[in-house]
Amino acid sequence: MSNVRVRFAPSPTGFLHIGGSRTALLNWLFARHHDGAFILRIEDTDRERSTQEYLQAILNDMRWLGLDWDEGPECGGGVGPYLQSQRTESYGPHVERLLADGSAYYCYCTPEELEERRSRAQEESGGWVYDRRCLNLSEEERQALESEGRPRVVRFRVPEGKTVFEDMVQGRIEFDNAELDDLVIVRADGTPTYNFAVVVDDLEMDITHVIRGADHISNTPRQIVIWEALGRPAPTFAHQPLVMAPDGKVMSKRRGAVAIGEYRRRGYVPEAVVNYMALLGWSYEDDREFFSLEELLENFDMKRVSRKPATFDPAKLDWMNEQWIKRLEIADRTDRVVPFLVEEGLLKADMPREERSRLESIVELLGDRIKLLTDAPELAGFFLAPDVDYDNIAVSKVLAQPGADDILVGLRKVLSDAPDFKPETLERLLRGFSEESGLKLGKLVQPLRVALTGGTTSPGIFETLSLLGRDVSLSRIDRARELTE
Ligand code: GLU
Repeated sequence: MSNVRVRFAPSPTGFLHIGGSRTALLNWLFARHHDGAFILRIEDTDRERSTQEYLQAILNDMRWLGLDWDEGPECGGGVGPYLQSQRTESYGPHVERLLADGSAYYCYCTPEELEERRSRAQEESGGWVYDRRCLNLSEEERQALESEGRPRVVRFRVPEGKTVFEDMVQGRIEFDNAELDDLVIVRADGTPTYNFAVVVDDLEMDITHVIRGADHISNTPRQIVIWEALGRPAPTFAHQPLVMAPDGKVMSKRRGAVAIGEYRRRGYVPEAVVNYMALLGWSYEDDREFFSLEELLENFDMKRVSRKPATFDPAKLDWMNEQWIKRLEIADRTDRVVPFLVEEGLLKADMPREERSRLESIVELLGDRIKLLTDAPELAGFFLAPDVDYDNIAVSKVLAQPGADDILVGLRKVLSDAPDFKPETLERLLRGFSEESGLKLGKLVQPLRVALTGGTTSPGIFETLSLLGRDVSLSRIDRARELTE
C-alpha cells in the first residue's frame, strides 16, 4: 500500500446525491489507483441536523455503488473514531498549541458588538473583516472580560501575505490573506468550527490528498493557513466542478437532485449511476461512454476531470441505465429484478429451481423492454400472477369486436390439440390455422394476446404462449371469451 490517504467526509444531514457520490467516487478511484487508503469520515458535528437514518443511508448507498472504504464506520481503522462527534478530545491540544505560540487568541466580542461594528464598517467602506479588537488585549483587559463572565471564542490569527496552492483540477489558486478574516476556530461552547475540525481530522488521519467539491475552494486557504500554523504541510487539493441542474443552476434538493437510495428504489442499476457520474465532467478518449467501476479504475487519471461545471441530464442517465440493464447476463439481470417482483407479491424470494429457470426465460424474453428494474413487475406480471387484469381499452378495442370470439374458439382448439408447447411448434400450428381460416396471422394474434396478457402489447406471442404453458393459456382464453360480444 502506498502512503496515499484520501477521505470522503459527508455530513449526515441529508441523503447522498449525485454531486456527493461523485466526490466519493473520485476519492475511491484515486485511492485505488494509487494503491492507497480510502477513508470514510462522518462529519456529524451538527447534532441537530445529523441523524442516524441519514448516516445509515449514506453507508448503504456507498456500498450499493460499490465504493468500499478501508477505514471508517463499521470497519474501524487505526486513526479512529471516524465519526467527528466522537473526536472532540483530539482538538484541545491543537488549540492549546496555537494559543501558546500566538497563532490563535481569545475573542470576547459579543455577537451584538460584532454586528454593530460590521454594519458601521460596511456603511463606511463596504467591507468588513474582523477588526482584531481582541488580538492585543492586555492581561488586565482580558482578566476584566473574563470576570465579567463573557463567553469567549478562539480566533485564528491569519498571517499576512498570500496563500497559494496548486489544485490538481483547477490549477493554481491564489488568495490574499487580507480577505480571510481571523476565523473562529472554537465556538463559545467549546466546539470546533468546520474549518478547524477538518484540518485537525485530516492531520491526525494523515490525509495526503483532499478531493472534494468546488464549493469548498474558499475554505481551502483558511485550512492551509491552519495547517501551516500547526507545523505540517497541507495536503494536495483537488476540487471538482459542481453538478448543475438542467436549468444551469447548481443542483440542489429542489433542483433535480435525487438521493442515491431513491435511484435504487426507482430501479436504476448501480453500474449505470456510477458510469453516469464518471462521465459528468470527466473526459475520456474516443468518446467512449461505457465503463464499469473496474474500467474506470484502469482509465483513471485526475487530469481527465474537467474544470468546467457539468450539467446533469436525467434523460442520459435513463438511457445509460437501459444500456446497462441490457448488458447484464440473464442470470444477473434476473437477480436484479427479483426484489422488485417480490415486493409486488409476484414471487417468493426462495423460489424453487424450476421457477427460477422459468423466470430467467421470462426475463430473457422481455429483453430490452426492461429499462428500469421497476418495469419488471408490470411487464412480467401476467406470467407470474395467477390471473390477468384485463385492460378496459384492450377489451373494447379487441375482444369486444365482431369475430373475436370465433377466433378464440378456433385457436383454443389448435392449442389444446398441439403435440407440445414449444414456440416453434406453436408458430407452425398458428400459421397453419391462419392459412386454413384465411385470416392474417396478425388478426389472429390480437385477441389471443389480450386473452393471455390482458393488454395489447407483449413479447413474441409464441414464446409467451410457451412460457405460460398449455393449461394457463387455455384457461385465460376461456376467461377472455366471457368478455367477447
Ligand atoms: N463535510 C463536508 C461536506 O459535506 C465535507 C468537507 C470536506 O470534504 O472537507 O460538504
